[in-house]
Amino acid sequence: MKHQLDWSSYESAGQGDAYAGIPATGGNFAKAVAVCISDRLCQRKPKGVMCPSYRATDDPAHSPGGRVLVLKAALNGELGDTPFADPRLAEAMDLCIGCKGCKRECANQVDMAAIKIEYQAQRNAALGISRRERLFAALPRLLQHRALVRTLIRLRNRVPLIATLGELWLGISARRTLPAPSTEPYRPPASPATGERDVIIFVDTFARHFDPAIAEAAHAVLSAAGYRVTTLGPAAGDAEPDRPLCCGRTYLSLGQVDAARHEARRMQAALRPALAAGTPIVGLEPSCILSLRDDHLKLGLGPEADALAKQVYLFEEFIARENDRKHLQLKLKPLPAGKTLVHGHCHQKAVGAMKSLRKVLRLIPEFEFEFIEASCCGMSGSFGLDAEHRDISLQMAELDLFPALRKAPDAPVLANGFSCRHQIREGAGREPMHVAILLRQALA
Ligand code: SF4
Ligand code: SF4
Repeated sequence: MKHQLDWSSYESAGQGDAYAGIPATGGNFAKAVAVCISDRLCQRKPKGVMCPSYRATDDPAHSPGGRVLVLKAALNGELGDTPFADPRLAEAMDLCIGCKGCKRECANQVDMAAIKIEYQAQRNAALGISRRERLFAALPRLLQHRALVRTLIRLRNRVPLIATLGELWLGISARRTLPAPSTEPYRPPASPATGERDVIIFVDTFARHFDPAIAEAAHAVLSAAGYRVTTLGPAAGDAEPDRPLCCGRTYLSLGQVDAARHEARRMQAALRPALAAGTPIVGLEPSCILSLRDDHLKLGLGPEADALAKQVYLFEEFIARENDRKHLQLKLKPLPAGKTLVHGHCHQKAVGAMKSLRKVLRLIPEFEFEFIEASCCGMSGSFGLDAEHRDISLQMAELDLFPALRKAPDAPVLANGFSCRHQIREGAGREPMHVAILLRQALA
């Protein structure tokens, strides 16, 4: 088996353990699968928050441990010569939304999200890539024609016949609206950057094209806190100097590993000077930052990727860190009274950023908030937009998130993830905001 991802970090996993149950084929990928010891703790009741697909279906086959059994069978040759094209494996992996709940909560840290990327890449190689997955993955590139994309999406959202045709031709649920790009993309402020310390903002595809107010707010807050803020652009010599940088997340989550690697290399080149100067890099979208901190390490990009991963922060992580170091000169005022509900993106939880978010929210005088105890919102990138996944995606949100929102119908909602905000907007009719927007509102 020719791996699409670099699994060398599992080289010694299970070595010398006669009971590790390492499958006969698959090399280090098989070892990554075999770190699951099949103790079924991910199927225990009362169920924890680990695996949303298991919780929503109540079917052990859709738990991390259930998936491992089929993967092991596939790698042991029990599903024939082309296991990655086998519908039994497809069924086992179908509802894994890559939330990394298992990597965080399983005692053996089974990384099913990464395993799913490898699976999907192998499946793409065996069966080809569907039109829908090509389209969703290529979003960062398509947005070079943002006016056209915006017009088409708005038209599709308004005209049911087009949405129905989109479902028939592409498999995008007609019962979903699609997020439309904003009128204008993000543009950094024209005034020169001032401040004592350097920080670089990485404006991801979603903030740049859909929610530029978030990037503007982050810029304003960091400037107000005393930082010399610049935004990251392509490196000198980049083959596409006019195309904004992208972490490759959309490609990676759909198993298009070569395209993701290409985007990651562009990022790596652009970040080289920041790495040499030790300048922190701040991102806004949890899944993009997780790509840089975790997924990029499996793309075979060399030791520089490890060094970069240590220099990249989520906005709230950076604010919390700088506050701890007494570097922050942020003057905040109280906001209108009332408790805000906070929904964490599953990748925010995976990188342990919820603690930082709590610290940052405590910086706002008299601010009341409550974290919603929930696993993934169920949207997970484009998963919840798929015709066949729309219902289960909403069921995942109904496990904890939507009931918590219904209990406090007037509470403002904070959600840092782009797809979480879309799910909340669609399924609960609320308009969530990013923490950067909240902090900007609280600037004294
Ligand atoms: S995924 Fe983790 S919790 Fe689930 S069976 Fe395997 S080892 Fe146990
Ligand atoms: S990544 Fe999330 S959905 Fe997939 S198996 Fe792990 S916990 Fe379940």
